[in-house]
Amino acid sequence: MSKHIPRKRFGQNFLQDAGVIAGIVHAVNPQTDDVVIEIGPGLAAITRPLLQRLKHLHVVEIDRDIISRLEAEFPPEKLTIHAGDALAFDFASVSDQPLKIVGNLPYNISTPLLFHLASYGQRVTDMHFMLQKEVIERMVAEPSTADYGRLTVMLQYRFEMETILHVPPGAFWPPPKVDSAVVRMIPMPGRCGVASDEALLEKLVTQAFSQRRKTLRNNLKGMAEVADLEALGIDPGLRPENLPVEDFVRLANHLAARRA
Ligand code: SAM
Repeated sequence: MSKHIPRKRFGQNFLQDAGVIAGIVHAVNPQTDDVVIEIGPGLAAITRPLLQRLKHLHVVEIDRDIISRLEAEFPPEKLTIHAGDALAFDFASVSDQPLKIVGNLPYNISTPLLFHLASYGQRVTDMHFMLQKEVIERMVAEPSTADYGRLTVMLQYRFEMETILHVPPGAFWPPPKVDSAVVRMIPMPGRCGVASDEALLEKLVTQAFSQRRKTLRNNLKGMAEVADLEALGIDPGLRPENLPVEDFVRLANHLAARRA
C-alpha cells in the first residue's frame, strides 16, 4: 500500500514511539471482553496493540483513505469502523455495557470533543486521551489560576483527571509544534455536588466565563442577582476563575430552586 500523506485538516500526527504506545496501552489496561472505543485510529499505532488484548474493538474515524487501510488490515469481526465525525458520534449507541474510550485526539477539535464526551460520563468506566499539554493543564487546573475556565469546571464536575504521561513532539510523525501529554479521566459523579439541572449549570458556567477579566456581578447580569450570590456567601466582586466547581454547582441549584 502507498505511504499515507498526513492531512493537517484532520490533525494527523501519527504516533511512532514504541515506548509511548506501550505506555498508553498499559494505562488503558484493556481486558479481553471490555467494550473499547478508539477515536481516530489513524495508521493503527494504538489500534494494533489494543487488538492483541481485546476480542473486539470499535473505532471512529473520519478520513476515507484511512478507513480503507483499516478495512484491508483488520477483519470486521475484530474491528468495527464507525465512519464519520467523532463530534457527532453517539458513543452510547455502541453498547449497553460500560465503555472505555481512548484516543490520540485530533488537536484541532479537542476542546469541543471533550465537551461532547463529557455528556457520556455516566456510560464510561474511564477515558484516556493524548492531548496538547496546554489543554490538559486547563482540564486539571486549580481555581484562581490562568488555566481555570469553562473546560475545567465542566470536566471537573464529572471526572477525576490526572496526567499520566508527558510526550514530546518527536514521538509523532510529523512532529506537532506543541508538547503533548496523556490524561486519564474517571467519572466521579457527585464529587463537587450534584446539579439538579445540568443544562442550567452549563449555561451559568458559560455566562460566568464570557469575559474572564470581569466580575461575577457583571458577567452574570440577567441570570443571577447580587442577592443570589450573597445568599450563598459568594462575593459578587470575584472573577469567574476564583469560584471553585462546588460553588458553581451550589449557585446553579440555587437559581434552579428560585425558578421553581
Ligand atoms: N491514533 C493514531 C496515532 O496515534 O497514530 C492517529 C492519531 S491522529 C492525531 C488523529 C486521528 O483522528 C487521525 O486518524 C484523523 O484522521 C482522525 N480524525 C480527525 N478528525 C476526526 C473527527 N472529527 N472524527 C473522527 N476522527 C477524526
